[in-house]
Parts: sequence; C-alpha cells; structure tokens
Amino acid sequence: MASNKVSVVLQPLDSSEFVSALRSFRRVLLSCVGPEGGIKIVISGAGYTTFTSSSSRLLNNITLSNPVCVFIKQIIQSQINAFLDHGLYTGILITSLLEKILSHNIGLSVPAVASIIEHLSSILLSLFDLNCIKLKADFSTVKQLLSVVKSILSTKPTCGLSKADIQNLHLSIVKGFLQTTNETFGDVIVECIEATEMKSDVFLGILYHINYDDISTVLYEKCNKKGCISLLLFNIMLTGEETSKVSESRSIKLEDRKSSNSFVEEAMKLFEQIVELNIDVVACQKVVHPTICLYLQRKGILLLDRMGTDLTHAVEKLSGATPISSIKHCSQDPGGLRSLLGTVETLKMVEHGQKYYVLLEKSGSNIATLVAHAPNEEAAMELKVVIKQSLSALRCLTIYPAVVPGAGCTEMSLVIRLQDLAVNDFDKYNCSRSQLESCVSWLQIALLSAAGFTTAGSSQLTADTVFGHAWKLNREACCCGLVSVKMVHDGCGRWIEVFNNDGNLLLQDITSLSALSSFPPSVKEDTVVDLFQTKHNAVKLSLESCVNLLAIGMIVYKSPND
Ligand SMILES: [Zn+2]
Repeated sequence: MASNKVSVVLQPLDSSEFVSALRSFRRVLLSCVGPEGGIKIVISGAGYTTFTSSSSRLLNNITLSNPVCVFIKQIIQSQINAFLDHGLYTGILITSLLEKILSHNIGLSVPAVASIIEHLSSILLSLFDLNCIKLKADFSTVKQLLSVVKSILSTKPTCGLSKADIQNLHLSIVKGFLQTTNETFGDVIVECIEATEMKSDVFLGILYHINYDDISTVLYEKCNKKGCISLLLFNIMLTGEETSKVSESRSIKLEDRKSSNSFVEEAMKLFEQIVELNIDVVACQKVVHPTICLYLQRKGILLLDRMGTDLTHAVEKLSGATPISSIKHCSQDPGGLRSLLGTVETLKMVEHGQKYYVLLEKSGSNIATLVAHAPNEEAAMELKVVIKQSLSALRCLTIYPAVVPGAGCTEMSLVIRLQDLAVNDFDKYNCSRSQLESCVSWLQIALLSAAGFTTAGSSQLTADTVFGHAWKLNREACCCGLVSVKMVHDGCGRWIEVFNNDGNLLLQDITSLSALSSFPPSVKEDTVVDLFQTKHNAVKLSLESCVNLLAIGMIVYKSPND
C-alpha cells in the first residue's frame, strides 16, 4: 500500500537543500535584470514556449515546489500588482539576503540575526528621506517624465528596440499620458503590432484596425459626414451560435440555445428598427452574422465588429453608448433604442506603419491610442507590458511626485551610509562588532545585487567619496548620470573600489565615507531615475518579508516526486 502514502519533506530553514533551492530561484531572477539581462526561454508543462525578460510574464510561467519559494513568488506578485515594477528587484533582495543569512554561521541564532536585520532595515528606510535620495519631481518641464519612462524602457532587452526606437517611443508614451490627463487620469489604449517599421505614434481617440479590403464607400461617406456620428454598441456575439454572455462586471445572462436561423430572424427585426433611427455606426465586441453584415452595408451603416474587450470598453466610454447585451431583452421601440445611442464627433481613415485604421474622435474624451511596433509577436507582447508599466509609473509619479537616483546609485548611497550609521550604533545590538559587521555586509551585498551589481566580475565597480554614487570604469558620470567627474573633483573626492577580486565587500575599512554630501543634484533629461514610492515599497516589503520568513522553524511539504 506504499502508493497511498504521501511522502513529506521536512526541511529546516538553514538546511543545505533549502539554501540550494533558494540559490537556484535567485539565479533565475538575477539573470533577467537590466539591459545586460538575458531572455528566458520558459517551457511550461503544456509544452508552450515563451521568451521573456519581464518578471511578471516569467512568474506566470514557472512552477516552484518549495513552499517558501512559492511564498516569495507571491510577495513579488504583490509588488507587481501594486506598482507594475520592481518585482524582480524584490525577489532578488529577499533571496540574496536569506541565502547569505542561512548559509553562514556566525555564532548567532537565526531569530537573533532576524532582530538585527529588523533594526538595520529601519535605519535603511529612514535614509530614504534624505534630500539627496528622495528627489522632488518637477513638473514644470517634461524632462523628468521622459527620464522615468526611458529608465523603464532601457532595462527591458527583449522588446527588440534600438536606441532610436526608445527615443521615439518614450516621447510617444509621455505625449499619450499628458494628452489624456486633466483633472483625472484618462485611458491610453496600447496597440502593439508586428512590423518592420518601428516608429510609434499617439492618436487622440480610438483606433480600429481594418484591412485594405474593408475600405468601402460606406466608410468614405461616414468619414466625410458633417456633424456628429451616432453609434450603437453590442457586447455579444451576433451569430446565434453562442448567445450566452459571461462578463466580469455585469450579470450573467443565459438564453435558450436556438438555431442560427431563428436567431438571425429575431436579430433582423431589431436591426430593421435600428435602421429607422438613421444611425451611422454599429460597433460589436464579437463576431457578427454575415446576413446582418450584408444588411447593414446595404443600408449604409458602417459595421465595426470583433472589437475585443478593451476597445469595446473604450468605445462605451468615448461615445456614451449603453452596450446591448441581449437581442431578446433589448427594447424595440424607437424611444428605447434611441436612449442606448452614443455619439462620436468624427471618423477618420488613418494609415500608419503600412496598416489601415478608422479613428473615432471626440474632443475632451481623455482617451488616446498609442501604436507601437515590435519585430515579432513575442516582442510585441513584451512591449505592451512595458508600455503599460511606463504609463502606470507616470500616474504614480503624479500622485507621489518624488524620484530616486536609478541604475544602482540609490543602493550604493544607502549601502555606504548604512555602514557608518550601523557601526556608530553598535551598543544597541546584543552581539559582537564582527557579528554586526557580517549582518551589515549581507544586507549591503543583497541590496547591491538587487540593483544589478553582483559580486562576480564587479571589481571595476567603484563609489565616489563625495556623493556615494556608483561608477563603472572610465565613465564621465556615475551610473545614474547625476554626478559628473568634475563634481567629485570639486568636492576633493576620490573613487574607491566596492568589491575586491574575491567578491568581498571593501566598505568596512573606509573612514573617508563618513562625510558624504547630502546636497541634492539636479535631475536632467538623460538621468536614470526610479520612482521613490516604487523603490521604497520594494525595499520595505522585501526586508519585512525576510524578517518574517526567518521566523519559520521548519518547512514541511509534500515531496514533489510523488
Ligand atoms: Zn548616480
């Protein structure tokens, strides 16, 4: 009866098996980071292959067996859900710090180390309020908006964008954001398509893609019409094959399954009434029966079908139409039907990137469409995620107008200042000085590693002694671009190595770091910045999670081999 037994894995938190599971998970996360980060090939259980470098897409495609890794994945997900960014960062910070703590024995119990980490993290989080870390966002120019978007775009390698593409796209994203933002945030619909030409553009209104064959006399008539365009919207299939509609936001309506013919008969009665109203456009989320298509065409009504969920919601918002979700229950009298109508101001034919579109416009609508191109289908999906992430970052910036230096400079500044503060406070901890220094260095290494500075091969990484920013060899400015070589010389500073050749942190012995400037440098257009709120939350969430996870005594789970 051995097959009925469930074998259970018992794993102490500091067992070598758990540390090695943690290490593999961290390596997967780490390999995605930054412009140098590689593309992951993920093959799911169903054999579906995905190429990705985005943490949100990666996480959806991997399965983890260790419950602690599953928990860390959930923490990463909660960071992504809240900010759409810094998910990988959170994952790397947690796994690096846990791995350091659990793989070293410095003569302290795990709970004792956890309480030191808790104390250090409160010092670290208070450093975020320094004038030179929390930089006020300035909305008098678009420079800071541009640099936020550029920072996000340039860290994603798989979108297949060149420098020139990024330049063009980040202007489009900021333009789309500004054009739809008044007192409230509007909607930017993101359309990413495969194309050889990469130029992106923003259109105020909604773009509906059509084929060359769809360009008809009816379409020309509507585009040339003076006065507003009336529109009726359906969010059901108009074929009779599936008349049930399930939607998240509305109630579920199930109708009797009838033959296609009787559906068409019933629908035609309604459409005869609709034609009487002299409307211009029928828009439908799903497929429309050919008989109905032909009828509408003969009556000179433009049909926009298969719009999809996003576009249907946008048309509902833009036109003010009430979507019809049942033929049977729809009012047939002219007054009732008229109350469901919406309007747009103009229809235009647009040709962009060798594709044709109908543009629906209405002034003051706060809806825009951003069209971007990618070299292949996978890249297009990736790009759509990244553009949405950029737009959400811009919205976040409007609510919390603060940024921090990007490209690892914030982490370097924090790490250097932490060294000084932690050791000064030595009396507050119940441990020896060398035990405290070990804990400090683990936290420092974990932060630098989350910022993309790993100990392997980073001997050319330096920090300046004036601002404490990160530098790579032979650069004119620090990694984020805020500090120039001249500024360091003017402050009589020098550059110090961060790691030695063996990957050990060199910050302990340096006394020259105690007098860092807290003067806030000014943000320029090419500065790499991150959102304050996103970064602060990611660090806080990671450190809190680490402290909580260190309280686990034993991991118990069903063996994955069963
Ligand atoms: Zn910098």
